[in-house]
Amino acid sequence: MNLEIKNPSTLSELSALIAEKKPILLTGAKTGTVIPYDKLSEILSDRDGDLRCVSTQNLPAQIRLCTESSTSSSADVEVEGSVSWADLRQFLRSKGLDLKVSPTEELAQVCAGAATSCTGELSFAYGAFRDQVVEIDFIDSAGRLHTLRSSENLRNFSVLEAIDTDLWDKYDRDYSDFKQFKNAPFPRYEKSTDLMIGSEGQFGAITRVRLKTRPMKKSIFLGLSLGSSWLNDMSAHREVFYKLQELRGEVLSVELIDTHSLQHTDFFCKDEDLLLLEVLEESFEKIYEYFLSQLENIAPNQIFELNEGQQRHLRAAVPRWIQEEISRHHVVKVGTDTQFRAENFDRAVELYRKLANNHDIPIALFGHFGDLHLHFNFLVKNETQKTYAEKLLESFYSDVALLKGSPFTEHGIGLLKQKYLDIFYGQTQKKFLSELKKCLDPENIFFPLGHFSKENP
Ligand SMILES: Cc1cc2nc3c(=O)[nH]c(=O)nc-3n(C[C@H](O)[C@H](O)[C@H](O)COP(=O)(O)OP(=O)(O)OC[C@H]3O[C@@H](n4cnc5c(N)ncnc54)[C@H](O)[C@@H]3O)c2cc1C
Repeated sequence: MNLEIKNPSTLSELSALIAEKKPILLTGAKTGTVIPYDKLSEILSDRDGDLRCVSTQNLPAQIRLCTESSTSSSADVEVEGSVSWADLRQFLRSKGLDLKVSPTEELAQVCAGAATSCTGELSFAYGAFRDQVVEIDFIDSAGRLHTLRSSENLRNFSVLEAIDTDLWDKYDRDYSDFKQFKNAPFPRYEKSTDLMIGSEGQFGAITRVRLKTRPMKKSIFLGLSLGSSWLNDMSAHREVFYKLQELRGEVLSVELIDTHSLQHTDFFCKDEDLLLLEVLEESFEKIYEYFLSQLENIAPNQIFELNEGQQRHLRAAVPRWIQEEISRHHVVKVGTDTQFRAENFDRAVELYRKLANNHDIPIALFGHFGDLHLHFNFLVKNETQKTYAEKLLESFYSDVALLKGSPFTEHGIGLLKQKYLDIFYGQTQKKFLSELKKCLDPENIFFPLGHFSKENP
């Protein structure tokens, strides 16, 4: 496949490129972990045809508070073009506001965040990305601009009127089993805005996103050393996990960095797992009384304060290091992005231990512990290790399916996770997604290698 790079610098240039009807892979900051951007030409070398990699990084960036709500303490904010999460956070803070989502990689783009349903750490307090979206604009394959509103029902979107109602009902029934997850194994399609959230560039180009905000409040950042690695003893981890569920909203985020991951940070204590908590300063007394002072498995000297910069630095260090390792060894990422139900805490740990044992491939476990949404990574160094690790993952995903967990909770499916789809998608999901694709992109222009383009079963 021939790859051609395009960098439109205005929305009309982007529309004109789309109107040429050549296959397009949209890209933002390229921090996505399921498309190996640096190996794309190699991976696609045995395929025919052309693919345009259309970067949105040069589109003019605009951020504005929505005037009709800017007097309130939690105005909506609109983002257009190439705006990163770091830019948006800085802008909001200058207005006394803050984000309700917090992807660990803040260099990623907000519009791309809608395309990947990027939620990150604050979901422990505020829910998933889709809960914060008010409006989305996108350009479809005919070059038309659409505005989707969360107040509207997706079934009323005229472009989708050809979709069979019974099929949609069946899809919704299957989805209802997974409502509690940040993102289910397959996307939700209820509100209008759902259409583009998690679409991974397969339905069109997202050009504007309107998000809810919150009043800026002071946070305290805590570290809890857990006394052991999850491979040996989970008593402290389990106690903290269940006790914190009662404090959602006052505790904003609960992130795990395990001992394996800590080796690749500059943190001073690397031989016990670490939890990083962000808590509202105004709730600290309550958190101290009902949580910190009550812990049976964690002594006071295992609890310490960090500043915001230190915590952000630590949280981003591990996934960034993993991306660098992958690049250095010229392999692709072999890891999970799975969320389990809270009641399956012990089963989840068993499955991670099964993944970790009986081989000598280095591993790392980290992520959004409070939501039982973790990233287990194999640091493979060659093709033999990759094949072995992928086999282990296949068996892991079969167990995840039995437990009705969610396998692709944030990072999406891209190219790398497609091989696991059959474990989670039945005829209903495949047919429905393929019908959506036909309505929105009948000529299969947007990310034609994506999973929505697969033929009906
Ligand atoms: C260190 C690190 C930490 C991370 N932490 C998190 C995390 O906490 N939570 C999380 O969810 N993810 C996380 N990720 C993954 C990644 O950052 C997110 O998926 C992010 O949303 C990707 O944004 P991007 O701008 O890099 O998009 P890209 O990687 O460039 O694109 C991602 C996908 O979106 C599509 N796309 C891009 N722009 C558009 C557009 N304008 N319209 C339509 N489709 C588009 C692309 O085709 C592609 O399928 C992390 C990654 C790293 C490296």
